[in-house]
Amino acid sequence: MSNPSSGFETQAIRTQAERSHYLEHSVPLYLTSSFIFEDAEDMRASFAEEKEKNIYSRFTNPNTSEFVEKICQMEGAPAGYAFATGMAAVYSTFAALLNSGDHIVSVGSVFGSTHTLFTKYFPKWNITTSYFDINKPETIESAIQPNTKILFAESPTNPAVDIIDLELLGEIARKHNLILIIDNCFATPYIQNPIQFGADLVIHSATKLIDGQGRVLGGIAVGREDLIREIYLFSRNTGPALSPFNAWVLSKSLETLPVRVEKHCENALKVAEFLESHPNVKQVKYPFLKSHPQYETAKKQMRLGGNIIAFEIQGGISAGRKFIDKIQLCSLSANLGDTRTIVTHPASTTHSKLTEEERLAVSITDGLVRVSVGLETVADVINDLKQALE
Ligand SMILES: *Cc1c(COP(=O)(O)O)cnc(C)c1O
Repeated sequence: MSNPSSGFETQAIRTQAERSHYLEHSVPLYLTSSFIFEDAEDMRASFAEEKEKNIYSRFTNPNTSEFVEKICQMEGAPAGYAFATGMAAVYSTFAALLNSGDHIVSVGSVFGSTHTLFTKYFPKWNITTSYFDINKPETIESAIQPNTKILFAESPTNPAVDIIDLELLGEIARKHNLILIIDNCFATPYIQNPIQFGADLVIHSATKLIDGQGRVLGGIAVGREDLIREIYLFSRNTGPALSPFNAWVLSKSLETLPVRVEKHCENALKVAEFLESHPNVKQVKYPFLKSHPQYETAKKQMRLGGNIIAFEIQGGISAGRKFIDKIQLCSLSANLGDTRTIVTHPASTTHSKLTEEERLAVSITDGLVRVSVGLETVADVINDLKQALE
């Protein structure tokens, strides 16, 4: 579809499904549930996978394949499969690769629904999980058991924006023969490529910065060919496929991913610097601020700091809620990675069901606020946060 030696932006724009006889410039939408065959032999050979042909859109579709190919190029991955949501990607990846009796070692601060999978659903199939503290990487190896099969992490984490050394995870995975899976959602393939540091698989929720405009849900897993083959076979039979319409939207979004992410990060750094200078703010965590505890690691493995900032308001839960109530321009919403800046208070919302002790174990203090910095005029975003802090 494209020249692998061309630049990131060129590939994001010029990788395109084959043109039809109409010679359209922009790729059309292939809203078709199935595809036709020439004759009985063509049909047999297609089902036997002797030919690379689209059969049914639960398996493959031209719009979905274009989206997958772009993410593979961006992540440096040989293969991939796209899903209806990020959680479908997370669930199907684990379900395809694990057997009853297998064990996962995961960073403690994972996305809420991923945590629910590990604690509520996987134990039904006798798949268990041990967690390690992201800020104590020296404890990872002691969590590994003889039946451990997968090492899983997110970096930066949600919502506390902690960072883990991906190269270290790669070394541990190789030493213990584990499959290293990284949820790379917060960084996007533009900022960080975990395969380069030893990851076997990379997962994204495409709902976030990949769509970037808060419109559609989507997910993807890319990486080692043999593992993706297992994930593909599981998914073609269980049905979590991305819709062609959403694939079309997401592939269009990827054309502007580099320019959008550059601007998101430029704005986020300015917002982070403002917050750090404000007397009512206790602590600011942003990967590219020198004060971030893992600043050196962030610089080593990330091209930019991302668009998510976590900060701590003086005065705990009630101060956090008051701050949220005073916000005017920014949105109060569960999404992130949108053009619109979004502010959330995890302790009173997404993580309110946890005890204070459980929250602290995943770095969520009572006054923690998460900001997903958007693409508005950055002075307007800063002014809104400023008036809400006072
Ligand atoms: C949002 C998110 C997911 C889940 O993605 P959906 O598209 O909402 O299903 C998984 N991991 C991380 C880190 C996320 O932020």
